[in-house]
Amino acid sequence: MPQRVLCHGCNHVLYEGPELKPPDEIIQQCGGRCPKCSRKLSLLPLDVEVKPVNKR
Ligand SMILES: [Zn+2]
Repeated sequence: MPQRVLCHGCNHVLYEGPELKPPDEIIQQCGGRCPKCSRKLSLLPLDVEVKPVNKR
């Protein structure tokens, strides 16, 4: 199932792809911060939004 992960601060797309990834892995890949608004991303409380991507 495709997955999209958004920053809660600015709705920047942190990850979008066909693989389902755990949010902590995505946050680690971003260096723990949103590359756009520099908001620190934390897992608890979950600071990113995970949405399924609609089929085209
Ligand atoms: Zn952001």
